[in-house]
Amino acid sequence: MLFVVATPIGNLDDLTPRARDTLSRVDLIAAEDTRHTATLLRHFGIDTPSLSLHDHNEAARAEQVVQRLRAGENVALVSDAGTPLVSDPGFRLVRAVREAGIRVSPVPGACAAIAALSAAGLPSDRFVFEGFLPPKPAARRTRLKALATESRTLMFYESSHRIVEMLADAAEAFGADRPAVLAREITKRFETLLDGSLAELHERVMADKDQQRGEFVVLVEGASMDEDAALGEGRRLYELLSRELPPARAAKLAAEFSGAPRRALYGG
Ligand code: SAM
Repeated sequence: MLFVVATPIGNLDDLTPRARDTLSRVDLIAAEDTRHTATLLRHFGIDTPSLSLHDHNEAARAEQVVQRLRAGENVALVSDAGTPLVSDPGFRLVRAVREAGIRVSPVPGACAAIAALSAAGLPSDRFVFEGFLPPKPAARRTRLKALATESRTLMFYESSHRIVEMLADAAEAFGADRPAVLAREITKRFETLLDGSLAELHERVMADKDQQRGEFVVLVEGASMDEDAALGEGRRLYELLSRELPPARAAKLAAEFSGAPRRALYGG
């Protein structure tokens, strides 16, 4: 069968005993980056052969893996860090294996989004995983704007290159005061969880280069009923005003009047 095995997101001690055992026993490990996984395997004294399976070769590799599973072999799927398929390759393989009627079994473990949520102190009964936002500013702002009325806790992955811009855009789209948590380098030496409003977090990260390094999960509290109502009102006002005024002017007035963030009403 195919085992979907979570690997650590920083601290190697987070590889579970069952994951270690599975990786030693299977016939083959399908890995996002075989060189990266080799370091993990070496650390644990595992010498199972591996084969690369990433976004660019997944369709072809999936066929090969299905053939080997059909021949009776056991295969493990791993990504570079955390849980495969969570903003990582593997979806096409898992689907192909299931369609072939072969069992797929998860070997759960670390996942950056869930680890961040578990320590953030934001509402955790309902949440939405958004993964990475589009890298281009216009598309990122459009996506954030579409999420402005979401009432569940929002989870984003972000890289060090874009963290400052992303926080600025989130503050514009969701409102400067929206509570958020920035989880950086979870389980690693410089692990930091900062909380505050989106505007505060943006300022803090912008002012401190060290806070811009590493890997990030950004958690944003969902819209409150008040925000939701303000947005509803803001959008109605914008709709009316934009019949008479240029869109930017209409958005400015509608935002001022309703208290809704301007960017949630009109473009970038
Ligand atoms: N599959 C992984 C998981 O289960 O979390 C995520 C893979 S995704 C390609 C990598 C992104 O996850 C990073 O850019 C960052 O946003 C987040 N991430 C991974 N490790 C992290 C860590 N130790 N601390 C904070 N964020 C992390």
